[in-house]
Amino acid sequence: MGKQDKNQKIQALRGMQDLQPEQKETFRLIEDKCREVFGSYGYREIGLPILESTQLFKRAVGEATDVVEKEMYTFDDRNGESVTMRPEGTAGAVRYALQHGLLFNQVQRFWYSGQMFRYERPQKGRYRGFEQIGVECFGMEGPDIDAEILLMCARLWKLLGVDDAIRLELNTLGSAEARTAFKTALVTYLETVKTELDEDSLRRLTTNPMRILDSKVEHTQSLLKGAPVLSDYIDDESKAHFEGLCQQLDMCGIQYTINPTIVRGLDYYNKTVFEWVTDSLGSQGTVCGGGRYDGLVEQIGGKATPGVGFAMGLDRLALMLESNQQAGAKTDIYIASIGAEARQMALRVAESVRSTYPQLCTLVHCGDGKFKAQLKKADASNATLALIIGEDEATNNTITVKRLNEGGEQESITADSLDEFLGNVVF
Ligand code: ATP
Ligand code: MG
Repeated sequence: MGKQDKNQKIQALRGMQDLQPEQKETFRLIEDKCREVFGSYGYREIGLPILESTQLFKRAVGEATDVVEKEMYTFDDRNGESVTMRPEGTAGAVRYALQHGLLFNQVQRFWYSGQMFRYERPQKGRYRGFEQIGVECFGMEGPDIDAEILLMCARLWKLLGVDDAIRLELNTLGSAEARTAFKTALVTYLETVKTELDEDSLRRLTTNPMRILDSKVEHTQSLLKGAPVLSDYIDDESKAHFEGLCQQLDMCGIQYTINPTIVRGLDYYNKTVFEWVTDSLGSQGTVCGGGRYDGLVEQIGGKATPGVGFAMGLDRLALMLESNQQAGAKTDIYIASIGAEARQMALRVAESVRSTYPQLCTLVHCGDGKFKAQLKKADASNATLALIIGEDEATNNTITVKRLNEGGEQESITADSLDEFLGNVVF
């Protein structure tokens, strides 16, 4: 390691974001709505560790996926054990449910939120540290639970006011056997055009051929026109499952399009896969993605257990919401004071207001400053009321109340009557 220049500015790591107060408020709003909606469907929140054993993700997400191959933050801990900062939440949720014996003969509906980490090229809506809220359900194999989580998403988009800007795209990947048969046919076809494939696709031909369908390279896409199509290989049971899902969505008035090119980037999906997509974020248009993962629990070492879930990207959702947000925080009461005694009284009064009216935002002017300057700050804070405490007020235990949004009308009240006074103010 080279010698550090003490004068060199230390900045956040590339792709790791600081959230400004307004952004954090938007995130909080989304999380609150999720808590409300998920709770009303009987989903319970769990908390999961950020750091897990590297093996977990290799087994769950798949060795040959982009995430495991090149996006994970993996390092040896002080004991020489390979650990990874979670790139997604499903693997950890399955590990959790297995470890705590929550899967045998039970159904479970969970949700979680938190930061995920992927070493990607940062751009708008794509970061190296990003926030997801995820939902995972275990022990239910029918299409009704697939429908339920999609209905839950639709309800959430409505509550957040983004339902007009998000659409649902669905596909079915079929059973593991169907995928294997399709994969074999796909590889056989692609071998015949091997010399024309781009470098990434050529590599994937042996590691993860289905991902070639996702290729952004135009020539590769044109080669794929002659390739076998997955839908021809879907088994009857998966077809019936998918039809069941579509019928339930139709019945509930949820609109969707069937998009046969959705394969999802992670290995564990089977049957239903879906994405909620928007056009308002450029190429980072997938706001939420998920599907069924009936083989995953077994893959991680448990008994075969059906599972289905999704994860939404809060950063992308927040970008969609930001334009609707009012800028800046709203203050209700601003307390100005001059002199040591008055300052003490100001803090005391503020504490009392917060106890009686916890829903109000009370801002205390800290530090010195003339009343004129302090009241300018009060105006700028958009407060409804200023409470002014000077030397006289401190001595007489009174407060001067100024109504900032009603022509600055001012009156003196006793400190003891403040609670009652505030009870009659419309904030
Ligand atoms: P993409 O195709 O955009 O890379 P993905 O298929 O890798 O997405 P998932 O692993 O399914 O995404 O994650 C679910 C959601 O998490 C995505 O739809 C997106 O909203 C969000 N997400 C994924 N990666 C990032 C990232 N690097 N930065 C911000 N959000 C992300
Ligand atoms: Mg990705």
